[in-house]
Amino acid sequence: MSTAPLHVIIIGAGYGGLTLAHGLRRAGISFAVYEKQRSRTDGLYGYRVGIDPTGNRALKECLPPELFETFLATCARTPRYFNVLTEKKKKTAAIPLRGDADLINSERSVSRQTLRQLLLTGLTDQVHFNKEFTHYEQQVDGTVTAFFADGSSATGDVLVAADGAHSAVRAQYLPHAVLKPAGIITIGAKVPMSREALELLPYESQQGLSLVFAPKGFMCIWHVMEFKWDERGGIKDSVAGNDAELLKAWPGMLFDNTRDYISWGLWASDDKFPENVMELRGQQLVDLALELTPNWHKDFRRLFEMADPTTAFPLRIATSEPVPAWKTSTITLLGDAIHTMTPGQGVGANTSLRDAMLLSRALTSVRADRVDLIPAIAGYEAEMIPYGFARVADSLAENGTSGNDPLHKPVIGRAVLGASRAYFKAVDKIPSLQRKFLDDLYTYRGAEESV
Ligand SMILES: Cc1cc2nc3c(=O)[nH]c(=O)nc-3n(C[C@H](O)[C@H](O)[C@H](O)COP(=O)(O)OP(=O)(O)OC[C@H]3O[C@@H](n4cnc5c(N)ncnc54)[C@H](O)[C@@H]3O)c2cc1C
Repeated sequence: MSTAPLHVIIIGAGYGGLTLAHGLRRAGISFAVYEKQRSRTDGLYGYRVGIDPTGNRALKECLPPELFETFLATCARTPRYFNVLTEKKKKTAAIPLRGDADLINSERSVSRQTLRQLLLTGLTDQVHFNKEFTHYEQQVDGTVTAFFADGSSATGDVLVAADGAHSAVRAQYLPHAVLKPAGIITIGAKVPMSREALELLPYESQQGLSLVFAPKGFMCIWHVMEFKWDERGGIKDSVAGNDAELLKAWPGMLFDNTRDYISWGLWASDDKFPENVMELRGQQLVDLALELTPNWHKDFRRLFEMADPTTAFPLRIATSEPVPAWKTSTITLLGDAIHTMTPGQGVGANTSLRDAMLLSRALTSVRADRVDLIPAIAGYEAEMIPYGFARVADSLAENGTSGNDPLHKPVIGRAVLGASRAYFKAVDKIPSLQRKFLDDLYTYRGAEESV
């Protein structure tokens, strides 16, 4: 067993890479993170990410205790209802969600930008921006040298690909790995919060997240995101005690321009969108959302219209295929870099956090001289690969996030839409079905015991 100290090179300062960095920091393992974005406020598509019990557990284990508390304080108001609506603004279901009293076994809503700022806290010296990884070389002694677009390089004992769906590390290490379009396009934007905007949504939707199931396989998600700070970044009067203190002391607030908002994401199979959709920007995307939804309720259309056009973006959803087994080495992968999934189950980020926690444990066991490096990485990969690709498959089968889903087909699609609505109506009305729906939901999302 080697007793030399480890140095870990992490490519990508996303949720997975940064959570791993915190885990290594807690274990006293040397590391450096290299990120292609030019600064800590660049990048990131989409606005909200749902952190589930799996994600909470990983953050609790890897972050310093006070930073985990700050994470809790920076989350948006916890959604109280899971709503299903028709495009005519009729309620199909409004299912009350469990609260957030349990630190781990609960669902939280967090702004992507806020979570990125939170995870960068305390890592300023170890995260290097404007470092686009281009390729690596493995040395005979097992060390790995990473090369960057600016001509610089870095050498470590382990190279971790945490560089997301289009991972350049994976392209070189596992060239046979396949990432393919899921056949779905989504366009999204943010509506700045106002009473007028909020009241366009039904009461339960104002306090939760809402899915719209519409004809022709169109779907939309609304998230109401309310934070503990106001539009000037000042702590709201209603926030006091520990949360107020943590927020005041948190340096990340200086870089985070997140304010209360309602976000929407509208998706359908890619044949429903114009060919040039990925080139459209700003108001063109808002106009497209209105063009695609002529028969939707006027309040929903008004919400599309009220979006801040500068926040609008198109996204072609991708999914990865299971990768045949490979021989473990001092290069490994986590998160979207190995198992990109559609947002169908809302677990991509959570799975990335879980990977980071497990890899951090594996490398910690190497440092504690309990295991050699290669068996430790092999143990991590043997655990990560099955659950990672199981979640890829589950995600593709949910909420119409595969272009092959019958929901998107001309005739059968109507029948599937009817069946989906009938199912959610039954869940809404029948207590035993509702209990089962919630138990299944929380268990899938990592709750370990009845909460
Ligand atoms: C619309 C949408 C909604 C979603 N909602 C949810 C949700 O509610 N819950 C959930 O759990 N998941 C959700 N996901 C999935 C989630 O966003 C991803 O799974 C998650 O961001 C993956 O984290 P990661 O750290 O593995 O990769 P990323 O977050 O993609 O981070 C990769 C990082 O690597 C950097 N990078 C890339 N290439 C290089 C390079 N060559 N050199 C250096 N750096 C590089 C990138 O700039 C980035 O910072 C959603 C996804 C989408 C598309």
